[in-house]
Amino acid sequence: VIADLQRLVGSEHVVADPRPDLLADASAYAGVSGVAAALVSPGSPEEVAAVVSWCAERGVPVVPRGGGTGFSGGCVSQDPASVVVSVARLDAVRSLDVLQWRAHVEAGVTTARLARLARENGLRFPVDPGAAEQSHIGGNIATNAGGPHCFKHGVTRAWVLGVEAVLGNGELVTVGGPTRKDVAGYDLAGLLCGSEGTLGIITAAWMRLLPAPPVELPLAAVLPDARAGQEALDAVLGCGVVPAVIEFLDAGSVRASAASFPGGGLPADAGFVLIVEVDTSEADAEEVAGALREAGATVSRPDARALWRWRDGVSIAVASVHGGKLSEDIAVPVERLADAVEGTREIGERHGLEACSWGHAGDGNLHSTFLLDPADAAQRARADEAARDLFALALELGGTVSGEHGLGLLKNGWLSRQWSPGAVAAADAVRAALDPAGVMNPRVKRP
Ligand SMILES: Cc1cc2nc3c(=O)[nH]c(=O)nc-3n(C[C@H](O)[C@H](O)[C@H](O)COP(=O)(O)OP(=O)(O)OC[C@H]3O[C@@H](n4cnc5c(N)ncnc54)[C@H](O)[C@@H]3O)c2cc1C
Repeated sequence: VIADLQRLVGSEHVVADPRPDLLADASAYAGVSGVAAALVSPGSPEEVAAVVSWCAERGVPVVPRGGGTGFSGGCVSQDPASVVVSVARLDAVRSLDVLQWRAHVEAGVTTARLARLARENGLRFPVDPGAAEQSHIGGNIATNAGGPHCFKHGVTRAWVLGVEAVLGNGELVTVGGPTRKDVAGYDLAGLLCGSEGTLGIITAAWMRLLPAPPVELPLAAVLPDARAGQEALDAVLGCGVVPAVIEFLDAGSVRASAASFPGGGLPADAGFVLIVEVDTSEADAEEVAGALREAGATVSRPDARALWRWRDGVSIAVASVHGGKLSEDIAVPVERLADAVEGTREIGERHGLEACSWGHAGDGNLHSTFLLDPADAAQRARADEAARDLFALALELGGTVSGEHGLGLLKNGWLSRQWSPGAVAAADAVRAALDPAGVMNPRVKRP
């Protein structure tokens, strides 16, 4: 195996029996650990195709790997015979077309690098998942990643014009491209978005960009509880301005993170906080502020950079309360946000765990979290049970078990509770068509 792979990609780009830390992602906290026959780093799309063909011919599992920041174990190989394919060496920016608001990048370009490149040229790449310095554009497409600014602009799929990928049979294909509109065929590029490495390996993509917005005007609105927060959210959605961001923190998340809020303007005992950013004009920001005040909020205007630095640290602040946490990413219809926030707390109470949530209010997407001491096995087991109750709650509220991180390994088995048997069968048929040998990330995204 190793000799063949070395011949395909060069001996210095093959690691035999890779150490678990080379295979890990952000699900390591949940005890997910990897094993594989080899980790290979092809230097071109053609080399990726050669490796996948070799694996498909022999029935060897292929696990695509991007920046390794996923939260659901999607890139963490579980089979000792697997070949993990890292796209890290595919990191060229093939073109940046500033006047056309477009970039053609290889899959291993990091999210932050594309965002910086856009910013330096007066443009913006608005997809802003939290681990942007490490996550890859290929990984963002494979997970259909979101982030705070995806409320106004949409998640990764909205920014993909075309994809170059190696399908499960080893065929290198290109679907879409520099053209802004194209309905000639099925939306195969869209299908690869969120496919979690089960349909093929993305090697490059054409990404849409936007002219940078003229302003970034954040507002922080303090409310007494989640119900009042839901009403304030309705008021913002109904006020006629489309904010770039609508985030929330419930009481427990505020308690954990208020001390470092820029300017000290968040009372630690706030029941609920909405963070709204307007990127159009000062007049629009005032309009939103007025709607929030009318809904009973106390509104302040933090500095944008300081605010986002603080927001990036909320997850760490929450984890530091007891040393660890289990965070999920359910999403519900926006009007059920308060139900999901309260339901998360109740589930925590039932399992003897402190619970809180924060996340993307405008998308109804919660990082519902159970706090725990990682050294306490009983707490970890109770947190796993609580997570199962949480997924059931998401479905009961008409939502989804994953708004951002995908099924990966950790949520295998949940899609068949969310989708009808006919829908699951259709998804299985798509998978079989694009991966006839069944070698693409076979343990992942199982319905
Ligand atoms: C601190 C932190 C904050 C985060 N915040 C967010 C957030 O706000 N929003 C959000 O959506 N996610 C967030 N995430 C999760 C994660 O960053 C995203 O899912 C990201 O898109 C994963 O990209 P990656 O390159 O690291 O992929 P990996 O973790 O390497 O892989 C993820 C999945 O994609 C597949 N894959 C990777 N690259 C390819 C490829 N080239 N072709 C085919 N399949 C591939 C893998 O097989 C796996 O199934 C966060 C993670 C961390 C650690």
